[in-house]
Amino acid sequence: MTKSEELFNKALNKMPGGVNSPVRAFNAVKKTPFFVEKAQGPYIYDVDGNKYIDYVCSWGPGILGHAHPKVIEAVKKICENGLTFGAPTEKELILAELIQKCVPSMQMMRLVSSGTEAVMSAVRVARGYTKREKIIKFIGCYHGHSDGLLMKAGSGVLTEAIPDSAGIPRDYSKFTLLANYNDENSVRQIMEKYGDDIACIVVEPVAANMGVVPPKPNFLKFLKDITKQYGSLLIFDEVITGFRLALGGAQEYYGITPDLSTFGKIVGGGMPLAVYGGRKDVMSCVAPVGAVYQAGTLSGNPVAVTAGIETLKILIENKEIYSEIDKKTEILENAFRKIGLQTHRVGSLLSAFFTDKPIINYDDVSTCDTNKFAKYFDYMLKNKIYVAPSQFEAMFVSFAHTDEIIEQTANIILNY
Ligand SMILES: *Cc1c(COP(=O)(O)O)cnc(C)c1O
Repeated sequence: MTKSEELFNKALNKMPGGVNSPVRAFNAVKKTPFFVEKAQGPYIYDVDGNKYIDYVCSWGPGILGHAHPKVIEAVKKICENGLTFGAPTEKELILAELIQKCVPSMQMMRLVSSGTEAVMSAVRVARGYTKREKIIKFIGCYHGHSDGLLMKAGSGVLTEAIPDSAGIPRDYSKFTLLANYNDENSVRQIMEKYGDDIACIVVEPVAANMGVVPPKPNFLKFLKDITKQYGSLLIFDEVITGFRLALGGAQEYYGITPDLSTFGKIVGGGMPLAVYGGRKDVMSCVAPVGAVYQAGTLSGNPVAVTAGIETLKILIENKEIYSEIDKKTEILENAFRKIGLQTHRVGSLLSAFFTDKPIINYDDVSTCDTNKFAKYFDYMLKNKIYVAPSQFEAMFVSFAHTDEIIEQTANIILNY
């Protein structure tokens, strides 16, 4: 038995499925997970002495690769001043200023501790501001695990939602209406019927939690226009796309400005930190200025904020990072295409799909052959390449992946 297997067997008795987040259990690829010893640059090492090229990068935060020396040094230093104060610090202001410099629509913001919290809070603000109760989300988009956003399509009419988890009151689904990604008509139909009670449309500007599914040309513009028409707010959930597609996220990449945005993953530089914010008049609804309550004991934690600041500074000072990781990801995309797989790539977000059906929304993604994916995952892992253990996740390339590593990976793909 490997050390990972040993630890996993013990962990099964202490944590559900042996893990602290379900996808880590490798269930979708019918394997047991490796346990991590450490990670450095583009590599992740398990407790059995295996060294993998890492294309998960902690599910997105690792745009600079693991353990960037500047980030680690700053974090070590700040720790000596104390880990948490529950009182304001200058660092929070510095991070907020950096975020606004990169994403001008973030006129006012709040720092929180997870993407789940950020989106949950942004939706509450949208409801408080508009004094409306219903929201629209898209099937296949993930916005964290808060009750109102963990909804999937029912078997009846398209717009009917049902909880995507036990433990969520069925009645919550009355407030979450489901539309089809990339399908303007499905949004229009809901708006025609419920428009006056829709507080917001929340969307991943590039869907990246059903594999990578880019928005059709004009889809985001359409969402902007229709929310404006009905007096609703548009929320871009940029927890993955933020600081990844460009310094200004998907809103810069596509030139569409939402009313509110959420960020996570990269913005915390590998620490638990996320952000929501946007229009000043809307964010002025948040307590203690306004009537929308939202709080957090560890919000704006100095250690997490420091990791975020250092990461954003490196990205700001080295803008070529974006064009370089795009080029590297394109090389991997070409390798997948050469072996006959359908791919979607936006910048350094990439998915290869095991289906022939052209993918534009969740129904199409559902046609993927997950057994074929599991075989591919196994092959990659045997060749010491760690990709997400699920067909429905993105592949993340970091700045630490050298040309050589990319070439090596492309060759392994070509031999599949
Ligand atoms: C990861 C993710 C979230 C949830 O963030 P957590 O930090 O895991 O709570 C929300 N939205 C999107 C688009 C994500 O990818």
